[in-house]
Amino acid sequence: MKPMWIGGEWTAGAAAGEIPVQDPATEEVLETVPRGTARDVEAAVTAARHAFDSWRRVPAATRAEMLHEIARKIRAHQEELIRLLTLEEGKPWPENEEEILWSANTFDYYAELARHERGRVIPSPEPGQLSLVLKEPYGVVGCIVPWNYPILLMAWKVAPALAAGNTVVVKPSELTPLTTLRLAEVAMDHLPPGVVNIVTGYGPEVGEPLVTHPEVPVIAFTGSLATGQRIAALAAPMMKKLHLELGGKDPFVVGPDAPLELAVKALAYAALINAGQVCTSTERVYVPASIYHRFAEEIASFVSTLRLGHGLDPQTDIGPMAGPSYRAKVEDHVADALARGAHALTGARRPPHLPRGFFYEPTVLVDVDHTMKIMREETFGPVIPLMPYRTFDEAIALCNDNPYGLGACLMSHDPRLIRRFYEEVKAGTVWINDPLTDNYAGPFGGMKLSGIGRELGLEGLEEFRETKHVHWDIEGGEKPWWFPYGRSG
Ligand code: NAD
Repeated sequence: MKPMWIGGEWTAGAAAGEIPVQDPATEEVLETVPRGTARDVEAAVTAARHAFDSWRRVPAATRAEMLHEIARKIRAHQEELIRLLTLEEGKPWPENEEEILWSANTFDYYAELARHERGRVIPSPEPGQLSLVLKEPYGVVGCIVPWNYPILLMAWKVAPALAAGNTVVVKPSELTPLTTLRLAEVAMDHLPPGVVNIVTGYGPEVGEPLVTHPEVPVIAFTGSLATGQRIAALAAPMMKKLHLELGGKDPFVVGPDAPLELAVKALAYAALINAGQVCTSTERVYVPASIYHRFAEEIASFVSTLRLGHGLDPQTDIGPMAGPSYRAKVEDHVADALARGAHALTGARRPPHLPRGFFYEPTVLVDVDHTMKIMREETFGPVIPLMPYRTFDEAIALCNDNPYGLGACLMSHDPRLIRRFYEEVKAGTVWINDPLTDNYAGPFGGMKLSGIGRELGLEGLEEFRETKHVHWDIEGGEKPWWFPYGRSG
């Protein structure tokens, strides 16, 4: 069993048993981790609370150096971390390589921002006064992370939280805790004990005690809408600061001028990276009616050449899904669409040659409409449903006809269409001609039901800094507006 990391110690804690971690491509158990409890959360929060008292006073330049050191150590152990991540998460090696290296870069980016201004001086109401706006750390930040990008999404929370002077308790997904624990072991061992703590376990048993703990003023969560709503309800009585990155149903619009072959490849990437299990995966596609059938044939023929397999196999383009329940949801959405009149040009089944592992063939659906689950609810799988549009107005209206607002993609070089798209589509990120590319400096998050707050960029640092206004009357004399009123002279 791989133990948890609490207060600088590797411990089985007060765990109520073990959780097996599977390779989703083979269904083999790789390792077990402790099934953490509320007592483990208590121990981790206590350690983080104590560590905060000194960590907040560590000079920003020293904190920055410690974050750079995390990045250096991640790179020094990158092969091992990429391999472990590929085994427990399932996506192909190149995608995990990118995840690990981007995670290291995120620590470097926030190391630089750790030296960013701590506040500002503002005009005072009277002479002889000083008015300061200070940015302060909150204290202990609870970070609850999903399985699809366990290291990157941990880094997007932990790096800015530490840079701002907070300490953290991380709850990785029960499906993918191993790389997080190993990363802490090899890349965070130089941090003072208790600055980072990792408690493994299930959402209701570890996540909820973290959310309701009175000494945890901030919860940074990435995961499903349903869990986000549960966390918001639990946190409401304590008025906690919440940072929620939730689901999506991202549209992809093929512009009337888009080069067809390029749009096909861009779409395949946007919809199928990580087997479609990205919060910003393309989940709905709108194609000009004039090229709809040709485009559908082209994308179906391209995706049917992609190879499914184990993520460690260099021939693999697409790995397995995370688990049986995620595949069952995709199967349900596809069945619902087919029952309502959609047609599958390719896929819509488990690959017969891969009986083990949670694989699902990349699927292209035509004749879909907005009454179907596949066009309304988050599918989170390798499915590309295509709908024709006649005017760009219609395309924009279709994009906005959904309760989520995470990302949106457009393939076009027409500046009038591009401007209309980024101004009128309600989404936290708009990608033009380069879908799903992140930028450390670019705030990332959702509108509508896709969440609250932003990760990355300066905004991502501010999520972990509380604002305090200090009003200082330097001379400190008596003021004419104090009591008693109206009795002068
Ligand atoms: P999930 O909500 O099931 O789990 C996410 C994390 O929350 C896990 O660590 C889980 O153990 C924990 N959790 C579960 N129930 C909890 C509870 N009651 N209280 C506290 N914590 C609890 O999501 P998932 O299946 O791991 O991830 C997939 C979802 O994440 C998708 O909906 C996807 O869109 C979303 N996601 C969003 C983003 C984004 O940035 N917006 C990025 C990646 C994934």
